[in-house]
Amino acid sequence: QADMAMYWAKQNGRDNAKFFEAYMASEVTSRFQYEQEIKDALDQQQFHLLYQPQVDTLSQSIVGFEALIRWSHPANGMVSPAEFIPIAEESNLICRIGDWVLEHSIATLSQWQKECANALPIAVNISGRHFVAEGFIKTIETLLLRHQVDGQLLKIEITEGVFIHDMSQCIDIMGALKAIGVEISVDDFGTGYSSLHYLKELPLDILKIDKSFVREIGDQAEGDKICEAIIQLAHNLDLKVIAEGVETQEQAKVLNRLGCYIHQGYYYDRPLSEDAALKLLKREQHTPDEVKVP
Ligand code: C2E
Ligand code: MG
Ligand code: MG
Ligand code: MG
Repeated sequence: QADMAMYWAKQNGRDNAKFFEAYMASEVTSRFQYEQEIKDALDQQQFHLLYQPQVDTLSQSIVGFEALIRWSHPANGMVSPAEFIPIAEESNLICRIGDWVLEHSIATLSQWQKECANALPIAVNISGRHFVAEGFIKTIETLLLRHQVDGQLLKIEITEGVFIHDMSQCIDIMGALKAIGVEISVDDFGTGYSSLHYLKELPLDILKIDKSFVREIGDQAEGDKICEAIIQLAHNLDLKVIAEGVETQEQAKVLNRLGCYIHQGYYYDRPLSEDAALKLLKREQHTPDEVKVP
């Protein structure tokens, strides 16, 4: 769009500079406004979390949940995180959102602990900028302590983008998380920076196969080859592996055959409200075999 504006301005002679200035100013204003709306959303509690179950097809039980943020905008209705997270990631706003998600997830874990015999872990998505921000570890330690929640109930999902940051800094942060029992997953694995070097260097726990690869299972000949390669890689490096975006029985069957037994996706459950997740958790502990299996 900026290119178009530049082109238009050039074609239109002497007012070009003015036009371009006005155009850029309006873009700055709308970014500024958008950021202000995100700040208001934090203050006015317009965000909430949904929890999507992660299913172990071997034990036929739910083994954890992923927290996914939702924004109910007063005028625009439901705004997708795919829209506002990238905007928030351009500034430190993402740290405020991430802290909010951590606070609410850990509070939810604390409530689950009170209401169920055994609570299950919640995985929280953390952006690169937040992961390496000062005070990140301290915030997690403080929240776990305040809510009396064990670190093993919290997991952190990062994407490969985190690894553009200083390797030794990443190792330190991951070491600190490990020390308090928090496991680390690489989300959307295979879609980002392709250096496999970091897999060996960093103390990671889990690879999450991106849903774009899961989607190709059964969809085209040899569509499962990438999944197979990632699963092998995980096994060889002693990492756990989770498939995201599992939508069909066929995909579930193929993943099982390839040795990936922890699945997340619409085939099992959509992201659920906090209440629905708690209900499922309670029911699960009474009749552990109610979970759908491929
Ligand atoms: P993600 O972390 O890879 O999360 C998985 C996304 O796949 C979620 O989209 C989830 O609702 C969706 N999904 C789950 N099962 C299926 C399925 O079977 N089929 C398909 N097609 N999709 C499925 P959602 O909730 O819209 O989130 C999109 C992305 O936004 C997330 O991708 C994550 O990168 C980001 N995000 C969401 N919540 C947070 C958050 O609290 N903090 C940060 N930093 N990012 C978040
Ligand atoms: Mg995720
Ligand atoms: Mg993902
Ligand atoms: Mg994704």
